[in-house]
Amino acid sequence: GRRGEPHLAGDGFVRIGEGSGSTNVLTGSGVDEAWTTGVLAAQGALELLRAGQPFTKKNLDRAYVARRRVSWVDADGRVAEKARDGFTRGVVSGLVGMALAGMTRGLVAMPGRSLPPAKRVPTVEEYYAGRIAPEEIARIRQDCAARGLSLHGALMDRCGWPAIPYDGQLLVTHQDALLMGGKVQAPPGYADHVVFLYPHLCETCGTKICIEACSGQAIAPAGPGVPAFDREKCVHCGACLWNCAASHPEDPERTTVEFRGGTGGLHSAEN
Ligand SMILES: Cc1cc2nc3c(=O)[nH]c(=O)nc-3n(C[C@H](O)[C@H](O)[C@H](O)COP(=O)(O)OP(=O)(O)OC[C@H]3O[C@@H](n4cnc5c(N)ncnc54)[C@H](O)[C@@H]3O)c2cc1C
Ligand code: SF4
Ligand code: SF4
Repeated sequence: GRRGEPHLAGDGFVRIGEGSGSTNVLTGSGVDEAWTTGVLAAQGALELLRAGQPFTKKNLDRAYVARRRVSWVDADGRVAEKARDGFTRGVVSGLVGMALAGMTRGLVAMPGRSLPPAKRVPTVEEYYAGRIAPEEIARIRQDCAARGLSLHGALMDRCGWPAIPYDGQLLVTHQDALLMGGKVQAPPGYADHVVFLYPHLCETCGTKICIEACSGQAIAPAGPGVPAFDREKCVHCGACLWNCAASHPEDPERTTVEFRGGTGGLHSAEN
């Protein structure tokens, strides 16, 4: 819903559908909303093409985001926006909150305890508290950093998770299935689509939690500074956008990792 709405437009791209926060979290309706945002984006794109104007963020804000703000999707989304906040306190508060929001068209809702993304992410030490001592994590971290590896494999081994035998019967995740379809690489010269906006914040970041959260092991340790990003491994899942230990200086609802428009991406085996 609108609570999880990421930036809707950037230079060269717009976001539509569920991944753009269009789903109505009060009614659970998402199909009409997703289609409508796609139609609005197409109308905006046609308007710019007809006027011979480029797909810059500024133009897309005007041609698409403004259309969306006056659409029924946005109006319904505002009613639903806080409907589920109560679930951060418990199931009963959540259900009462949904009933209140529904009956008052969003005017009254159960207040939640929602934190901005950067404050929601536990450190590795917090996550493993009681299972692995911080000193041992520090040792494993040092060892992984020296080998350019993320921590999570080593920590799962340490916790006793068995290695998965390669028997040809592996369950295949959604993202892996997409990967089997193949990846279209951005040609040389194109900028990376994952951007670390504030290198100085990465330099002082103790947790480097983006490395551990990355679904494709595309973000890797690179000394004390900005982590290394390998776009050939990226599965475009967006986890890094929300799993960063630092808040965006101008908007606490965002982190310091940003997606940019660009070429490259996954395609499924079917298409
Ligand atoms: C159990 C359930 C019941 C629901 N019931 C209803 C209902 O009754 N009525 C209703 O209106 N809504 C319902 N919804 C919500 C609705 O289904 C969604 O809001 C809607 O389908 C979102 O459409 P979308 O096109 O934005 O996203 P999706 O339908 O999620 O499409 C996203 C597509 O992107 C693909 N993809 C993901 N990652 C990548 C990648 N890296 N590269 C390439 N492709 C990728 C996925 O495979 C997927 O096909 C329900 C949802 C669920 C889960
Ligand atoms: S992107 Fe965020 S989590 Fe990753 S190193 Fe930079 S500040 Fe830390
Ligand atoms: S989008 Fe996903 S796979 Fe790509 S860098 Fe971010 S977390 Fe890693």
